[in-house]
Amino acid sequence: MGKCKLCGRGEAKIRLAYARLNLCRKCFTEKFFPNRVRRTVESYKMFPADASVAVAVSGGKDSAALLHSLREAFPAVQLVAVHLNLGIPEYSEAAERSVEALCRSLNVELKVYRLKDEEGFTIGDFKATKYGGKLCSVCGVVKRRRLGKIAAELKVDALVTGHNLDDTVESLMATFTGGDFQQLVRLKPVLPAQPPFPRKVKPFYRTPEREALLYAEILGLPFSRRKCPYLPGSRSLRGKRLLDLWEAEEPGFKYRMLAAFEKLIPLLEQAVPQPEYTYCRVCGLPSSQPVCADCRRIEALKGRKAA
Ligand code: SF4
Ligand code: ZN
Repeated sequence: MGKCKLCGRGEAKIRLAYARLNLCRKCFTEKFFPNRVRRTVESYKMFPADASVAVAVSGGKDSAALLHSLREAFPAVQLVAVHLNLGIPEYSEAAERSVEALCRSLNVELKVYRLKDEEGFTIGDFKATKYGGKLCSVCGVVKRRRLGKIAAELKVDALVTGHNLDDTVESLMATFTGGDFQQLVRLKPVLPAQPPFPRKVKPFYRTPEREALLYAEILGLPFSRRKCPYLPGSRSLRGKRLLDLWEAEEPGFKYRMLAAFEKLIPLLEQAVPQPEYTYCRVCGLPSSQPVCADCRRIEALKGRKAA
């Protein structure tokens, strides 16, 4: 690969085909990667340099790379890590241990919320409900609600999630082909606050998944490699595999998808009005329906338990 394109001295070890860039490990981890995170946060005005933010950490590579790179890019930002233990056998214990090790090593405050202890259920319990065929979708609803609530209690300026470029482009494809244009708009990198929930932001919006893994590996960050047992067969996994094939044939494809989406957002916002938000009559939190998605799923769970 020759010499690093940034410093001109180090041996290039990392090839970024979409940018025709070969980098040494040092320039990748110390400059290229955290600089892109900084530029993403600044260009989308995610939060100011002295903000307090809650960072959702799952225990995987993305959240490890996210917490570390935010610390590097924004030393004055006050970070609190928030971890949800979903009660998934083996996977959740490994994830919680990794998050604890990560936060200890970075000296970041950590809040852990264990579903089973706090609310008496786990994600696997939904298998017995009508939502059982789409566990990842239930899991998404459950996570969103609780992370939002915890961030509201912490009174932070923003809730930060580790959604990366691949996550966004995969969701774009699936949402677009499903024809759900209201949901498409919600894939933006910044979602406004919905009191009591703070704004939600994605500093890895422009960071490829492969690079988050490289960053975490090169720096030796603690993260769990255990795969969730509910992941195989999930829509997102299949979609990402296909996108990787496309990216290998046409480097830069994922970024071009993102660029096209950004051009589309203002048009979609005009053409497709977002649902009116009211408050869920069960939990009292913001919802576009009389009973929010979270409460509907919890009701289904209670029904199965009572039966
Ligand atoms: Fe939840 Fe699906 Fe992720 Fe497992 S793979 S943690 S069920 S979203
Ligand atoms: Zn509700």
